[in-house]
Amino acid sequence: MPTTFKRILSFTTALLLALTCALGLGNNVSDDYKEYKNVILMIGDGMGENTLAVTRQRYNTSLFLDTMPVHGNSDTRSFIFDYTDSAAGGTALACGIRVWINSVARFAFHPFTIDDTSVPISLTELAKANGKSAGVVTTDKTSGATPASFSAHAISRTLEKEISTDQLNGDLDLIWGADTDSVTEERCTEHGFEYVSTATELEALEEGSRSFAQFDFDDLKNCKSDNDTPSITEMTEKAIDLLDDNENGFFLMVEGACIDKFSHDNDFDGATKCVMAFDDAVKAAVEYAKEDGETLVVVTADHETGGIKYDAEKDEYYYTKDGHSTADVPLFVSEADAGFTDGQLVENRQISVQIARVMGFDETQFPAVKPYSGDPVVK
Ligand SMILES: [Zn+2]
Repeated sequence: MPTTFKRILSFTTALLLALTCALGLGNNVSDDYKEYKNVILMIGDGMGENTLAVTRQRYNTSLFLDTMPVHGNSDTRSFIFDYTDSAAGGTALACGIRVWINSVARFAFHPFTIDDTSVPISLTELAKANGKSAGVVTTDKTSGATPASFSAHAISRTLEKEISTDQLNGDLDLIWGADTDSVTEERCTEHGFEYVSTATELEALEEGSRSFAQFDFDDLKNCKSDNDTPSITEMTEKAIDLLDDNENGFFLMVEGACIDKFSHDNDFDGATKCVMAFDDAVKAAVEYAKEDGETLVVVTADHETGGIKYDAEKDEYYYTKDGHSTADVPLFVSEADAGFTDGQLVENRQISVQIARVMGFDETQFPAVKPYSGDPVVK
């Protein structure tokens, strides 16, 4: 394709993106909001309202989430369909745009897809480009669709090697999760990351370090520490501890990934255990935020998994499917002055846009595109 033509398309892309975002975004996030230096976005993968309800019932307890001052909902649809997956769902939360399912922070099958010279920037890239620190923590593989949406660009979530390479080439301060074959200690060291594979090594990390952590997936999924694996709460606390060294602030994404995985198997034991672990991590983040005074915690899900319904006669919850449903998901915010209103339904992509605004960036800065030269070459 001739360069001039590419440039025109690139410009058109940016223009259309700006227009869509300006016109397409409802006005149900408030223009009257306070700015926060740091934002922690916590995503319970597959966590619907009824996933929380069944957890409360099974553990006979309220959740820490229930104490948060703002409880709204997010409409999780993807670009074309009323359902989504963790790639398009993650992209909406990371980049403020809705794309085709399977697409990780790329314009796949979007009307703007004709232009492959640019990609939407994510909140981590926005933060890093403006002097903040940024990190991604998950209980999934580090190349999983949700963490990938915040740390890579790929036409499909299945391109695990390309995603890992993009992450290693990037400038995030920390990427922690379960191990993937394409990330080795040698590659991490080559790319300037400290390699970590145990809770002991994680705890020993010092401020100013950049780190790539690869833990045992079975431990993370089942909330165990058999292989010296940290809990999601320990990872969250340590990530905050490392990132908050930066006087310009930080953005951190934490994913509780396995609520979704257990719900695909219609396994309430596993899913509710993961909700409890995730809820505990949220508590740790909010406790930090309250003490810090300059940090906002936003909690939501990328989609609901399992189509969980309630049978009032039996006072029982039950799964209706083994895939994702179109149900709206919960949205919790740790402060009432951040533009999110209790009881409101927002679009998933608005959450991302509002987080950018809260961090001090306006609509000319986010959503936005950056030049892209294609998927990374995997060595
Ligand atoms: Zn899923």
